[in-house]
Amino acid sequence: MMKGQAEVICVGTELLLGDILNSNSQFLGQQLAALGIPHYFQTVVGDNKSRLQDAIAIASKRASILIFTGGLGPTPDDLTHDAIADFFGVPLVERPEILQDIIAKFAQRGRKMTANNRKQSYIPQGAEVLPNPTGTAPGIIWQVTPDLTILTFPGVPGEMKPMWRKTAVPYLKSQGWGQEIIYSRMLRFRGIGESALAAKVGKFFTSTNPTVAPYASKGEVRLRLSAKAASETDAIALIEPVAQQLIEIAGLDYFGADEDTLPKVVGELLRQKGETLSVAESCTGGGLGEMLTAIPGSSDYFLGGVIAYSNQLKIALLGVRAEDLEQFGAVSAPVARQMALGVQKQTLSDWGLSITGIAGPDDGRSSKPVGLVYIGLAAPDGTAETFEYRFGQERGRRSIRFESACNALDRLRRKQVAYKNI
Ligand code: ATP
Repeated sequence: MMKGQAEVICVGTELLLGDILNSNSQFLGQQLAALGIPHYFQTVVGDNKSRLQDAIAIASKRASILIFTGGLGPTPDDLTHDAIADFFGVPLVERPEILQDIIAKFAQRGRKMTANNRKQSYIPQGAEVLPNPTGTAPGIIWQVTPDLTILTFPGVPGEMKPMWRKTAVPYLKSQGWGQEIIYSRMLRFRGIGESALAAKVGKFFTSTNPTVAPYASKGEVRLRLSAKAASETDAIALIEPVAQQLIEIAGLDYFGADEDTLPKVVGELLRQKGETLSVAESCTGGGLGEMLTAIPGSSDYFLGGVIAYSNQLKIALLGVRAEDLEQFGAVSAPVARQMALGVQKQTLSDWGLSITGIAGPDDGRSSKPVGLVYIGLAAPDGTAETFEYRFGQERGRRSIRFESACNALDRLRRKQVAYKNI
């Protein structure tokens, strides 16, 4: 059974002023999606009774379940229950069990209860108490009419979330809500832009179960596949064939799903073949090594690296030829190549990966553009390749360094996959 839809109403002037982030709406949005409860509107309204009632008037016309957070506190600007009761023409009534609970909580904490805390024991007549195990103010569950249910929660996320999980979710399920689940999988791609990927897989965007939606974020493109079904197994069965088709169409540009990251995927491929990797970094200053070692268990395949920032160290530790540094400059394909081969040789690793580039901002000394980066990749067969990137000065130093490290890993990944298939 599926009834209408839910609407979240977050109450608090501080939300309107932007003083705090509305994390409750994010949490509830995720929860409602996971429960498969349709949810098309969210409202934020200040601590003002008539505007709160305006919000109730609108929401109760288009939704059958209204979920409030905030405005349950003891002070006069906490108006949620008052506004709800008035709107539906019922009085607020004191509930002795709430008062007892508040008195007990104050006693437990060795604090004196103030008169205004008593206000929190009043709830609209006919409503059930939604217990608050962590704070003082309880919420309510109120079936106002057969077609309208109201749930209220305090604004404090640490109180709202346990109340939601412990009481509200079981209640909603018992009422026939949230019988279906929404299950999502995120497919991740690198080395292809959002529009290029969309051009390849656009026909899937009209699919309804699962839905397929693109997202672009930090140098990678993602496709989120979401299926609605009675169980996770059924949802996965809907997602799987579509995911496989997308992965096949994208080829090497697909690198992983959900929690897969480039260093994790690269690490898995190395582990599978029992191979090792070492790195030689200039402009990333260890960022590549950091990404690789952030993965637990990376010591199985990552030997270490050399941060050779100066020409001197590039010569002394990596065997880069002084005359090539002189002739081509430190940021050049020949130097990237020698760095990768050098670190591979010095550490006896199977793979050597190097980065040399200009992260900027422009220091005026170099004739090469900021954002010019070379990546060197030495393979187990002793051959080496280089790759040139031009990220552009406007990206900024942090992003150029981050993208350099990601692209180095991506180059390695592509080569590993090619090797794997030999
Ligand atoms: P209490 O009974 O604990 O006073 P309350 O229901 O009165 O709670 P508010 O006074 O509206 O809640 O908010 C209390 C605090 O909860 C805010 O100062 C803020 O830190 C946090 N809060 C309120 N609403 C939200 C929200 N939508 N998202 C995240 N945090 C919130």
